[in-house]
Amino acid sequence: MKITRLTTFIVPPRWCFLKIETDAGLVGWGEPVLEGRAHAVAAMVEEMADALVGRDPRHIEDLWTVLYRGAFYRGGGIHMSALAGIDQALWDIKGKDAGLSVAQMLGGPVRDRIRVYSWIGGDRPADTAAAARSAVARGFTAVKMNGTEELQYVDSHAKVERCLENVAAVREAVGPHVGIGVDFHGRVHKPMAKVLLKELAPYKLMFVEEPVLSEHHEALRELAHVADGTPLALGERLYSRWDFKRVLSEGYVDIIQPDPSHAGGITETRKIAAMAEAYDVALALHCPLGPIALAANLQLDGICYNAFIQEQSLGIHYNASNDLLDYVHNREVFDYRDGMVAIPQAPGLGIEVNEDYVRERAAVGHRWRNPVWRHADGSFAEW
Ligand SMILES: [Mg+2]
Repeated sequence: MKITRLTTFIVPPRWCFLKIETDAGLVGWGEPVLEGRAHAVAAMVEEMADALVGRDPRHIEDLWTVLYRGAFYRGGGIHMSALAGIDQALWDIKGKDAGLSVAQMLGGPVRDRIRVYSWIGGDRPADTAAAARSAVARGFTAVKMNGTEELQYVDSHAKVERCLENVAAVREAVGPHVGIGVDFHGRVHKPMAKVLLKELAPYKLMFVEEPVLSEHHEALRELAHVADGTPLALGERLYSRWDFKRVLSEGYVDIIQPDPSHAGGITETRKIAAMAEAYDVALALHCPLGPIALAANLQLDGICYNAFIQEQSLGIHYNASNDLLDYVHNREVFDYRDGMVAIPQAPGLGIEVNEDYVRERAAVGHRWRNPVWRHADGSFAEW
């Protein structure tokens, strides 16, 4: 079997899909995207096609190695997201060829379903408590919210109080046993992260995410101390085993959150997860993306023993123009029940992409960009 063509589709709300075709008639789908950089990733996929056309799509480790090491320069969000989508599509082809799901090919599932959490907002003043109640009413046993608005290096305690009020309202709305993740979103700097983590400890959070940006991982030692037992999570902005090895070996992260559409795909994310398991660190894959990415995530959840929860974007605020079920024929594949979603069983990634609809929406496309925030003094604020 040989690869004949790679085609990317930039589709709303902010995604990029990839179709890889073969001379055997089998096709595979992947989701190579970095939010806000979809066109750059698509261009990189187009460049990488030179190393793929004419090759056997089933030789995934070799193709991955060539695409990672073969261009001399390596790593970072654009490269690793392009490689991620290609890798997902190759696994989809290999699974369809073998008549097995990706999880079956990688040793068989260790679980049938995975707990998921629902996003409940929290960026700008919003009714997070009502959103949390609604998520619990729909069966979710865990929710995630943003902790603060923009925050200066050292900021007013009034903003800390607002964060605490927000979290307290959610805790009161859902009771003591629903998991609450609070995402600092990398918008909190170390001086305020210390204050917030200390104050949030009594709310018994499921985790605090990106307490500081991953590039400040050396701060985690002090932050873990003041967090007083609150698990610390990060990793959506780390892209490879080599990025993760530092944070894992330092020993202060409790949960890693690689994104299988940013961190080199199924092949690389599986290895990152195994590294984390060796440090007794949990896995909560990052996925605010589309249906192909979610399917790839779920295949990994099926085989990664340390996975305990999965992010998913059904109904998330970004998805106003299109939601993830719009692009698949077999919508029932994402079987949400009792706060969990089933691991898809069909060959490959387990989904049937609605290509006609993908092409229709690719004609519309998108130029999604994240908001640019400013502090009161006019300087840039991390979003
Ligand atoms: Mg996050």
